[in-house]
Amino acid sequence: DAVERTRSQLGAGLDNVLALGRTVDEETLDELEAVLLTADIGSSTTSEIMRNLRQRALREKATTDELKQMLKEELRAILDSVEQPTNHPTQAPEVIMMVGVNGTGKTTTSGKLAALYGTHGRKALLCAADTFRAAAIEQLEVWAQRSGVDIIKTKQGGDPSAALYDSLTAGKARGADIVIVDTAGRLHNKAGLMAELDKMRRTAQKLVPGAPHQVFLVLDATTGQNGMQQARLFTESAGVTGIVLTKLDGTAKGGIVIAIARELKLPVVFAGVGEKMEDILPFNSDAFLDSLLG
Ligand code: GDP
Repeated sequence: DAVERTRSQLGAGLDNVLALGRTVDEETLDELEAVLLTADIGSSTTSEIMRNLRQRALREKATTDELKQMLKEELRAILDSVEQPTNHPTQAPEVIMMVGVNGTGKTTTSGKLAALYGTHGRKALLCAADTFRAAAIEQLEVWAQRSGVDIIKTKQGGDPSAALYDSLTAGKARGADIVIVDTAGRLHNKAGLMAELDKMRRTAQKLVPGAPHQVFLVLDATTGQNGMQQARLFTESAGVTGIVLTKLDGTAKGGIVIAIARELKLPVVFAGVGEKMEDILPFNSDAFLDSLLG
């Protein structure tokens, strides 16, 4: 299944380094460090993990099996150190804004999430507020049809905040539980984009107290450490509460999840694992660590 598809380069690399059941020495640790670096965990996170492991493994004269267990504990501690988003709405609808750079999978994820919430008995409404990218609105309409949810849109080039205003008004009138807002992601105009997102936040706040309840940053897992740069930009100014990591089916380097947790202090809340409606999974640390470490 999807989790297996992320089964990883790291797992295979660890098998090589740690298979022999020998006592850990400096060479083992150097090899382990190299393996971690190839898995997109990032250099600063890898350094920190290795500092802890090196001390412990040498002091305790650990075997390679024990080292693998220690590594798992280190990774788990990083994932556990990040709080899950818990901004529960006091009044419907819950408002979720999807932000991120074009091409990362915002529109696709918006559609998948609408369908997923539907299967949990929550009535979603889609808001087509990516009025910048050609075809984003039509693409979201196709998703709305597929998942059988209402969509509110404006024309291409229109004001995203106007689309949001109409969506929240409709969402309240129609008894929607959740409004999912697809936004634009033109990164070359950073100041303009951030001003637009800010205006949308204020618009949401005016119509629904506490909104937006969640801001999900959509990141493409195949872009690795470049994705981390984008992420910093958005987390600094867009009030991101969680990450949706897409295209995990297209990479064997799931280590980016660890880097996100440690460097951005944000949880991965959903993983995208394909282009179809059902190709989305609530993120689960246990399943993830099992598949990552093999
Ligand atoms: P947006 O510009 O951020 O709205 O990105 P789109 O939703 O248009 O997605 C860009 C491309 O990525 C499309 O071809 C999607 O089908 C594809 N895509 C999105 N999520 C995933 C995923 O989890 N796995 C794979 N393999 N492709 C995805």
